[in-house]
Amino acid sequence: MTFELSADQEMFRKVVREFAESEIAPHAARWDREHHFPVEIMSGLGGLGVFGLTAPEEYGGGSGDFTSLCVAIEEIGRVDQSVGITVEAAVGLGINPILTFGTEQQRQRWLPDLVTGRALAGFGLTEPGSGSDAGQTGTKAVLHDDEWVIDGAKQFITNSGTPITSCVTVTARTGTMTDGRAEVSTIIVPAGTAGFTVEPGYDKLGWHASDTHPLTFTGCRVPADHLLGERGRGFAQFLATLDDGRIAIAALAVGCIQAMLDQSVAYANERTAFGAPIGSKQGVAFQIADLKVMADAARMLTYRAAALRDAGRPHAEVKQAAAVAKLYATESAVTATRVATQVHGGYGFMEEYPVARFYRDAKVLEIGEGTSEVQRLLIGRSLGLPVE
Ligand SMILES: Cc1cc2nc3c(=O)[nH]c(=O)nc-3n(C[C@H](O)[C@H](O)[C@H](O)COP(=O)(O)OP(=O)(O)OC[C@H]3O[C@@H](n4cnc5c(N)ncnc54)[C@H](O)[C@@H]3O)c2cc1C
Repeated sequence: MTFELSADQEMFRKVVREFAESEIAPHAARWDREHHFPVEIMSGLGGLGVFGLTAPEEYGGGSGDFTSLCVAIEEIGRVDQSVGITVEAAVGLGINPILTFGTEQQRQRWLPDLVTGRALAGFGLTEPGSGSDAGQTGTKAVLHDDEWVIDGAKQFITNSGTPITSCVTVTARTGTMTDGRAEVSTIIVPAGTAGFTVEPGYDKLGWHASDTHPLTFTGCRVPADHLLGERGRGFAQFLATLDDGRIAIAALAVGCIQAMLDQSVAYANERTAFGAPIGSKQGVAFQIADLKVMADAARMLTYRAAALRDAGRPHAEVKQAAAVAKLYATESAVTATRVATQVHGGYGFMEEYPVARFYRDAKVLEIGEGTSEVQRLLIGRSLGLPVE
């Protein structure tokens, strides 16, 4: 087992890295400072094919693979976590549900713009009263005169209010099943639909250049054929969507760890204290050595999960590997930003150095698309433990 990427995947990594270093890195600090969503680079990213990696050619995609998507997210995340999460959410939460569960008509309508970066879509699962316990959907949708009438609210929805957002898919309670549990379905809501309000964006700790909004639905009506997939399968659909998303978030965390490693090595060679580079002190060098271990281990777990997914391995195996990768990579990313900031000393606390931005950005990796506790829960269950 070598875990090497193919020649094509390595070539793709090089292309994305060059784009990230020339078109994103020089602006990342300013976008973060100004809380600017960089809509201007979406078409460039689309030109590279990053949004279409998992989509077939008939919808404008590149018939690539999930592993290549992880490569792209890692490389973008190495310079800018906000743009990395924008791409991750655009594909994992925006495109994938429509691609996987949509009718031919829905795919033809939404995918061509989404896979080229001309448009973005969001996925509204989380609500003010339910995040980890997302099955407790409070948003309701009632079928009335061949239209779904949606009422409720969604919380923390990525890519839901950008200038090019074309739609959001939302989970809603559409009835009650015979066993008394909620019947949850997924519905596509086009941007600009009356009764669908994108509330002002959040004041976040990090990911300042990514787009996140609360959404409200008040008597919002969409045609009945905007139901995504089968009625009552919304819960199963979002669980499947999140399995893939977790591998992609792990890739974003790998990019973060690699950035912390690269920047710490450079700084430890350049900064002197007590007459020598700080990297000559074991107390510094050993911390950086640990970053290398984290980068390698997180990368292997992430690409193993992606490879299992690309190979079409059994769902339970992919699900467990995704949770393992997400848990380890994201917790390591938070540790890596703490270590890198420490290596940079007082300068690490200044926004002049990217480690400060990565320090703020990393925390949410342990929260989005399933918290660390939820990953441990999934892993525990996959081991046959009766964990609640
Ligand atoms: C910047 C950002 C972007 C996001 N983007 C999206 C998006 O695009 N779409 C979307 O739908 N959601 C999105 N989310 C929401 C995100 O997925 C949730 O915040 C996350 O799943 C946690 O839910 P919660 O915030 O309600 O926390 P809660 O579920 O209330 O959890 C609070 C704490 O309790 C712990 N906890 C809960 N249940 C258990 C349990 N059974 N065992 C042990 N511990 C438990 C949690 O781990 C956590 O530590 C985003 C969030 C953020 C911050």
